[in-house]
Amino acid sequence: MPPISSELHADLGKRLRKSREDMLTAIRARTDGNTDDRPAISPMAHMGSNDDAPAGEMLSHNEEHLAEHESNLLHEIDAAIGRLEAGGYGVCVSCGCEIPEQRLLATPTVQTCIQCQERIEKEQHTGRGPSM
Ligand SMILES: [Zn+2]
Repeated sequence: MPPISSELHADLGKRLRKSREDMLTAIRARTDGNTDDRPAISPMAHMGSNDDAPAGEMLSHNEEHLAEHESNLLHEIDAAIGRLEAGGYGVCVSCGCEIPEQRLLATPTVQTCIQCQERIEKEQHTGRGPSM
């Protein structure tokens, strides 16, 4: 028996696949050369001088960072879908307890319970590593 209800299973599966689609669309849109990340740009400005955008070089570092962030997210989503299908979803990878539904709903890609997440974050902040 999976630790989560079949209703939650279906709901999260749908949401994860949707996020995956959105992510892929976003990545594709950017790799197509559209720099429509800039919030102030209007659709009309697109028609103008977009052929050789002078801001291209300045953006590239940020985009690289974004792309890395996105591929990490995509990986997390894939992993979550995998766990959802193979079983083991909703179980903390660190301590093995069941992750509360509220937490799964808030962050479908989450892999640990709140206690473990806090512990891991603390360890990362102090840089001391696990104290077991
Ligand atoms: Zn845990």
